[in-house]
Amino acid sequence: MNLVDMTWPEVAALSRDLPVVIPVAAVEQHGHHLPVVTDSLLLGEIVKRVSSRMADHVLFAPLQWLGNSHHHLDFPGTLSASPRVYLDLVGDLVENFLTHGFRRIVVVNGHGGNDVPAKQALFEVRQRHRHRDDLLLLMTTYWGLGTRPWDHDASIVQREMGHACEWETSMVLRAAPQLVKPHERLATVPFGNPFLPGSRAWITKERTEPGHIGSPREASAAKGELLFSLFAADLEAWLERVVHWDGRSWEG
Ligand SMILES: [Zn+2]
Repeated sequence: MNLVDMTWPEVAALSRDLPVVIPVAAVEQHGHHLPVVTDSLLLGEIVKRVSSRMADHVLFAPLQWLGNSHHHLDFPGTLSASPRVYLDLVGDLVENFLTHGFRRIVVVNGHGGNDVPAKQALFEVRQRHRHRDDLLLLMTTYWGLGTRPWDHDASIVQREMGHACEWETSMVLRAAPQLVKPHERLATVPFGNPFLPGSRAWITKERTEPGHIGSPREASAAKGELLFSLFAADLEAWLERVVHWDGRSWEG
């Protein structure tokens, strides 16, 4: 069910063991060929597919389009909450649902820059409620749940999510082809090796001049449909584990 379609007495009548999903994405530059709404569009499509299949046992909050995208601010059209503001934004959304009595809160992310602050926000909420033994505070990013798309389609080139890349361009071609500008001749921007396996702080313009990272020229709507179906299946299976949590234990 979708929170925004409900009245408050309907929300009040829900089981507090119902998992609450808070989808978080972004509005930020996606190269010369994809719209700035890309991350919100793609996560919205995945959530739509999953919510239609889990309608009776998961509560979905509206998608939060404002993300932590300061690394993209050199590119016009990017909108961003700074990391500390974003941290409090996500923390408050989670606290809102705790105030209403819900105990299983799941942040589902569709933008790389949200990863660290969303995890930190949940960590901080957990410490504020350290007397509780009935809370499940979770976060995931939709492409990080284990699927290996290239095992299903050998023509898929990338082995990881990039930016405005083969994967994202394929999914926008599937969901909103009218928003995709010519992508067939765009040069591949390699992922490179930023001191892996260490973690390097970065801004986008030091990695890419056009704004994309990866191979948008390899994109197709058929790949987009495959990616949507794999990511939605992964998310649904993972949320089923949240539904079946026993309400206390560490194991999930
Ligand atoms: Zn993106």
